[in-house]
Amino acid sequence: MLDFTDRATLPDAPREFGFWSDGSWHKGGALFERRSPGHGVPVTLTPRCTVDDLNAAVAAARRAFEDRRWAGLPGADRAGVLLRTADILRRRRDEIAYWEVLENGKPISQARGEIDHCIACFEVGAGAARLLHGDSFNSLGDGLFGMVLREPVGVVGLITPWNFPFLILCERIPFILASGCTVVVKPSEVTSATTLLLGEILSEAGAPDGVYNVVTGSGRTIGQALSEHPDVDMLSFTGSTSVGRSCVHAAADSNFKKLGLELGGKNPIIVFADSDLEDAADGAAFGISFNTGQCCVSSSRVIVERSVAREFEDILAAKMAKIVVGDPLQTKTQVGAITTDAQNSTILSYIDKGKAEGARLVAGGQALDLGGGQYIAPTLFSGVTPGMSIARDEIFGPVLSSFHFDTVEEAIGLANDTVYGLAASVWTKNIDKALVVTRRVRAGRFWVNTIMAGGPEMPLGGFKQSGWGREAGMYGVEEYTQVKSVHIEVGKRAHWIK
Ligand code: NAD
Repeated sequence: MLDFTDRATLPDAPREFGFWSDGSWHKGGALFERRSPGHGVPVTLTPRCTVDDLNAAVAAARRAFEDRRWAGLPGADRAGVLLRTADILRRRRDEIAYWEVLENGKPISQARGEIDHCIACFEVGAGAARLLHGDSFNSLGDGLFGMVLREPVGVVGLITPWNFPFLILCERIPFILASGCTVVVKPSEVTSATTLLLGEILSEAGAPDGVYNVVTGSGRTIGQALSEHPDVDMLSFTGSTSVGRSCVHAAADSNFKKLGLELGGKNPIIVFADSDLEDAADGAAFGISFNTGQCCVSSSRVIVERSVAREFEDILAAKMAKIVVGDPLQTKTQVGAITTDAQNSTILSYIDKGKAEGARLVAGGQALDLGGGQYIAPTLFSGVTPGMSIARDEIFGPVLSSFHFDTVEEAIGLANDTVYGLAASVWTKNIDKALVVTRRVRAGRFWVNTIMAGGPEMPLGGFKQSGWGREAGMYGVEEYTQVKSVHIEVGKRAHWIK
């Protein structure tokens, strides 16, 4: 029996999972072995599903949608399932967090906080299931009444990345289910365990068979087949901008399925001289180190007013040096392991590029040998200019680039000088400056004197090449609906043919 509490240790042998389809576990053929990035030992075995497995799951989701076992329920009944799911997650919180740590490498205390956020997502989703409604038009004259119905889109395909396997899933699933849609999920092949576990949890909570299905495997086979599946009505994709682009092509080349896309970011944090520099430095250190910087809303470009730049960078570098990097199973750890070998090499190559392109290394800048896993010290480069690759590319690691500005216009220009528009923050005590910057910086999520705060009541999503559509809250649930205009004649029809 594994212990999921603070004394948690590694499993003696990897845990084998089936895939979840039509309300039960199914044995997969070939298996994918996942090694813990924090410890280097095998921890899970998950199926490499076939396209036949995917087709069966889509057919199950289609049956569950068409016979109205889910969409036909009162919203209150769907809300009941979501609230019972929240209760089960509360009970199984430490266990879900444990598998998340072993497959992803994130610290256990962070993973537990993420499960708390996931519970809140199910609670907000339950509220959305009850509140979702359309509109009426009493303004069409006495002879006509207009109603706008909100109807579920149908079968949704959901593709998720490896950086927040359970959190990103739970920022979508409660809202997809609240709308009355059914779903087939394809998680990242390296972090599938917790997405699979949600199958048995939803089933225990009372979700009918076929409403939630998970098919595991590689992006190139299962992800591609899901995105081009002719019987999937909508695809919600979260991941890199390049794969997002291929999903757009797949949707267009198959059935013009509706798309929701949440893609990459190169997020600015603007620090004015009149801000509380200690607060801003703490926000910047957190913003780039949280989840080892493998976070779509990581604040990876700090844009600081020149008059305080040196002072600010000194405070920031001192804070970054104090961050506790280490074994993700230890509760004191703040920054865990880099999730994949490929990502580890990518981050280290960008650190080399930063040095080669002439940026000044102020903190970190190296891999850390902590035994067994792959770790990188939180890194700060100063004197970064817009042409450098560390200024432009999403590194997806704990590497922060610092730019300097003299005027508000210059700060806004630097912040918007990116193809992305996912998130941004501004730090100042001047309300006018805060509002000017909030209005002018193009980003889907914005923070003033704080960072990465919020809850599932608020919508998530990006401007520009960071994506299409919004997830979470009432905005999120509405994405999974389409509207139907209904026109009702009142009284006798005025005849066309006399
Ligand atoms: P990725 O694009 O490589 O993979 C994401 C998912 O797509 C995985 O499940 C993968 O198996 C699948 N996939 C791969 N090739 C596919 C294909 N051809 N067709 C369909 N699916 C395919 O991304 P990643 O490396 O897992 O995650 C990192 C990226 O995700 C970063 O760019 C990050 O910014 C982005 N991200 C964005 C958000 C957001 O909310 N905007 C959140 C998290 C991550």
